[in-house]
Amino acid sequence: MNKSVNHPYDELLTAYSAGSLPLSQALCISAHLEHCQSCGQKLQRLNRVGSQMMQQLKPAPASADLKNQLLDRLDSLTEEQAPVESKASEPDSSIPRCLRQFIESRYEDLPWKRVSTDIHSVELCRDSNGARVELLKIRPGGSATTHTHLGDEYTVILEGSFSDESGLYGQGDFMVKGTRDKHTPVATRDRECICLAVTEGPIQFTGFISRLLNPFIRRSYA
Ligand SMILES: [Zn+2]
Repeated sequence: MNKSVNHPYDELLTAYSAGSLPLSQALCISAHLEHCQSCGQKLQRLNRVGSQMMQQLKPAPASADLKNQLLDRLDSLTEEQAPVESKASEPDSSIPRCLRQFIESRYEDLPWKRVSTDIHSVELCRDSNGARVELLKIRPGGSATTHTHLGDEYTVILEGSFSDESGLYGQGDFMVKGTRDKHTPVATRDRECICLAVTEGPIQFTGFISRLLNPFIRRSYA
């Protein structure tokens, strides 16, 4: 399956391969990879290059202190590790594997909060850098109100589709909007749209009436 047309740019995939991305951005890349064969192949190539580079590095001699710390850590690991019991209810198979740690069963069962007539949201976690990881649900034909961001916004469409000023986006599509990008996502009328969204700063609504919402959004972000 490779129907996704909007992909993470190469620098992001390279950082993902090197394990240097913040958790919140890595979740978006993982969710996209579950829908995108071409990025999966690109990632395999990057992983191969990374491991070849590692093999070419000359090992540095370890200090006696470091060796002792490692041996202590190994001892404690063998004592601590117990098999993890699997949960009774299995998550819906349409939920990306990388998100199943946050979603026990189905999207419908999550504690959605109403943001507006058209949008509900649920926070999954906060990254250590402060970024908010959440799901957004837009009702069929609903609009996410014109907004910009005080930080970058990463979005992956998990269910349904939406369009904005740049075009139509479907399941698996990945996009990044910067602080200067103003956009108005509108879900298609056939079904609701569920997105994984990572925001690194509060959303700024830019419409005349919706500007009134900004103080509330900033407060909920703090
Ligand atoms: Zn891709």
